Amino acid sequence: MKIGGKLYAGKAKSVYETDDHDKLILKFRDDTSAFDGEKIEQLARKGEVNNKFNAFIMTQLEQVGIPTHFESLYSDTESLVKRLDMIPVECVVRNISAGSLCQRLGVAEGQDLKPPIFEFFLKNDPLHDPMINEYHILSFSWATKAEIEKMKELTFKVNQVLKNLFANAGLLLVDHKLEFGRCNGEIILGDEFTPDGCRLWDAGTREKLDKDRFRQGLGGVVAAYEEVAKRLGILI
Ligand code: ADP
Ligand code: UDP
Repeated sequence: MKIGGKLYAGKAKSVYETDDHDKLILKFRDDTSAFDGEKIEQLARKGEVNNKFNAFIMTQLEQVGIPTHFESLYSDTESLVKRLDMIPVECVVRNISAGSLCQRLGVAEGQDLKPPIFEFFLKNDPLHDPMINEYHILSFSWATKAEIEKMKELTFKVNQVLKNLFANAGLLLVDHKLEFGRCNGEIILGDEFTPDGCRLWDAGTREKLDKDRFRQGLGGVVAAYEEVAKRLGILI
């Protein structure tokens, strides 16, 4: 598989074409951004840690029947994936209150959410990813009713599988964000699952081991990602 021209450079990853039209290469960069790109820094080793983290999680999800775009690792910082027609919405599930939910509703961080809360956001940095609901998605034809149902079903399934996986490593999956796309009429999990797009707390101390360390200037960002990766057996 040969890498081709750059298709897109996002805030943390770049996307390249390959000699197979249906396959892309995702390059996980060390760039780390928060607040819709207002705060950006390079964090050494993050691209490599996230590439390996994502490969592990996507493989675990495939094994329980969740269709993902992940094909194989291509290099330390790159993965080969299926080309998807991305749906421009973010699917967020929350098991414990944190982040924008607390700011929006004035609720305290750290409350168990039963049932978990599902939210859609529009992927649009200039508009700061506004929260939307199913009516917006349908009226603006961002996805069909069946696609919405599939995204919700898969997001809850991912949440259940990963909550257990992280619990076995002494971690709480507080919340996470997924992106889906279309491939041959099927809805497939795309983008990434890494500590850049989820919240993970130590189950005992509730220490934050995710991108909140960067957002809140707590330091030790990549060290925390590596700690999680070690607990899952991804890194030694
Ligand atoms: P952002 O666009 O939010 O700054 P990234 O830096 O992570 O995010 O850029 C990666 C981009 O690649 C995202 O826009 C994402 O939707 C897109 N993408 C992820 N997986 C695929 C895929 N399999 N096919 C096509 N595009 C993808
Ligand atoms: N998230 C993400 N990308 C975004 C927005 C949110 O990966 O553009 C993730 C975020 O890391 C967290 C979850 O989605 O795990 C919920 O984020 P929230 O709405 O609380 O917003 P934030 O506090 O990140 O602004």
